[in-house]
Amino acid sequence: MRLVGLLGGMSWESSAEYYRLANELVRERVGGLASARLLLHSVDFAKVERLQAEDRWDEAGALLATAAAGLEAAGAELLVLCTNTMHKVAPAIEAAVSIPLLHIGDVTADAVRAAGLRQVGLIATAYTMEQDFLRGRLAGHGLTVVVPDADDRAAVHRIIYEELCLGVVTEESRQAYREIIARLVAAGAEGVVLGCTEIELLVDQSDADVPVFPTTRLHVEAAVDAALAAE
Ligand code: GLU
Repeated sequence: MRLVGLLGGMSWESSAEYYRLANELVRERVGGLASARLLLHSVDFAKVERLQAEDRWDEAGALLATAAAGLEAAGAELLVLCTNTMHKVAPAIEAAVSIPLLHIGDVTADAVRAAGLRQVGLIATAYTMEQDFLRGRLAGHGLTVVVPDADDRAAVHRIIYEELCLGVVTEESRQAYREIIARLVAAGAEGVVLGCTEIELLVDQSDADVPVFPTTRLHVEAAVDAALAAE
């Protein structure tokens, strides 16, 4: 089993899910007491969030590139960046290591295509919904991406940073997400990408009338597949 390097802490609420899901999947697939071989570098999210908000992405990229190089030096054979948003700086991270980075956009696109869908809604941070680093990656796989309108994008973003990243899960926010998902479906989305690693803490398939694509789970499944394929 390959040693997987998790670059997390963004936020740790979702990194904890990566850790739990990876171990559960390895136990399911291998059996017995088998568990995932993992290294975790968990950053201080307050620092990363400040760099995002101040548009200092180069510094955020340098910070994550250094952490990634540390994971490689410690023996990681595959890199998993446990956040959609910070895939904005994936090129800086990839330039700093020689091990592969398992891109969350590729994994998500593969799942959408395997489900036979072409047009998907995307709920995520404002950075991810409004910029091209993830949408462009999905489009590169032949997908059309629909995002919520400005008010809905602001609500989705606020709930991520002010609630989910702090471990706060409320019925009111769940209902707000359900309604936003329904509006995406009305706008033509055949499925909805939960494109932020904390969103699965709030909503799941039961909150939508179309297939949802939970990026944390999909990312972990692909990492475990890759780790076990090396057996
Ligand atoms: N975990 C979130 C994501 O998947 C947002 C936190 C971050 O800014 O990294 O985009």
